[in-house]
Amino acid sequence: MARNFRTLDELDGDLTGKRVLVREDLNVPMADGAVTDDTRLRAAVPTVAELSDRGAVVLVLAHFGRPKGKPDPTMSLAPVTKPFAAVLGRAVRFVDWDGAEAALATMRPGDVAVLENTRFFGGEEANDPEVAQRFAALGDLYVNDAFSAAHRAHASTEGLARLLPAYAGRQMEAELDALDRALGDPEHPVAAVVGGAKVSSKLDVLKHLVARVDHLIIGGGMANTFLAARGVNVGRSLCEHDLTGTADEILDAADRANCTVHLPYDVVVATEFRANPPTRTVNVHEVAADEMILDVGPAAAESLGDVLKNCRTLVWNGPLGAFETPPFDAATVALARTAAALTVGGSLVSVAGGGDTVAALNQAGVAGDFSFVSTAGGAFLEWMEGRELPGVAALAPN
Ligand code: ADP
Ligand code: MG
Repeated sequence: MARNFRTLDELDGDLTGKRVLVREDLNVPMADGAVTDDTRLRAAVPTVAELSDRGAVVLVLAHFGRPKGKPDPTMSLAPVTKPFAAVLGRAVRFVDWDGAEAALATMRPGDVAVLENTRFFGGEEANDPEVAQRFAALGDLYVNDAFSAAHRAHASTEGLARLLPAYAGRQMEAELDALDRALGDPEHPVAAVVGGAKVSSKLDVLKHLVARVDHLIIGGGMANTFLAARGVNVGRSLCEHDLTGTADEILDAADRANCTVHLPYDVVVATEFRANPPTRTVNVHEVAADEMILDVGPAAAESLGDVLKNCRTLVWNGPLGAFETPPFDAATVALARTAAALTVGGSLVSVAGGGDTVAALNQAGVAGDFSFVSTAGGAFLEWMEGRELPGVAALAPN
């Protein structure tokens, strides 16, 4: 599919002294003033370093927490500036909104600054044109590198892109290209794994996928609702009984679209939900009234691996079982390792996303072997629903 955005490659001409506003995601988890996971800081490095190397004055825009539209010292980006400078390997200034213009006037080509939390302005989340204009007045060019914030039409993610020449940063570019390879223009056969707790949270994902993938693998708690729709007694399992009709509609839609749906045929059950309780592995028709389905069974997990062996593309969101609680991570770990091995072997393009999915892949030790792992959360899910992301749409050259 043709890209509908410009990248830093198309940002030609001399950038020396040009002020580039770069939207990054610096919303890192912190405890006692220290960053506990610097993934997002590291992801911001390539774009910021490249622009700085090219002589631009790099002004990083980002949000932090949910400060309700007014300055809140507990949600300042100031404490993030030092850790960011450390991963960037160069000096980074912190610039408060008061007197920003005067502070920026002293910056030299190649200098980098982090501006204070964009959400200190009430109009940021409302995409108020005045706030977008205030940001735009500080720079000459705009680069959006924060895919994870692109599902929100905010002043710093959407409005600003309409006021300045706009480009996708390296991280945004990599994410959009990987996602396009997985669902926009994939090599078939395509498999999707959709798991997690509830059907209700992923209805739109399922509806979008049935028309696009050849194999839909449903696991996790949401598989129980589908099993119930097919008349299986799921005992005390997590199950949305009011959604069995919807599950039926999805199964019908899959049939019409020639999408094969894979539901577990054996499952791991327990009567208590805790670490290492007594468990049974049973056929789905043998779940007792007091038992809960907590993982896909080993036989089904293995045949799902065989499905992947015949596929060229995989997109994965949601664990197959209650993976945080041993031993209910077994099917997720087994299938993740198969997908990783196929990816390393060159037969599969694998893209995964979702907070718990990424945690599960890390637990399986294979996140690095997938073709692409998105840490974007909400934006990844909206993309899986087939929605246009406002922050991406606004990058389209006009
Ligand atoms: P993601 O964050 O990757 O989008 P979700 O949040 O939708 O994934 O789902 C993850 C949650 O689903 C995990 O907390 C996991 O324990 C839960 N889950 C998976 N399978 C089951 C099950 N059979 N019963 C109860 N919870 C489950
Ligand atoms: Mg989750």
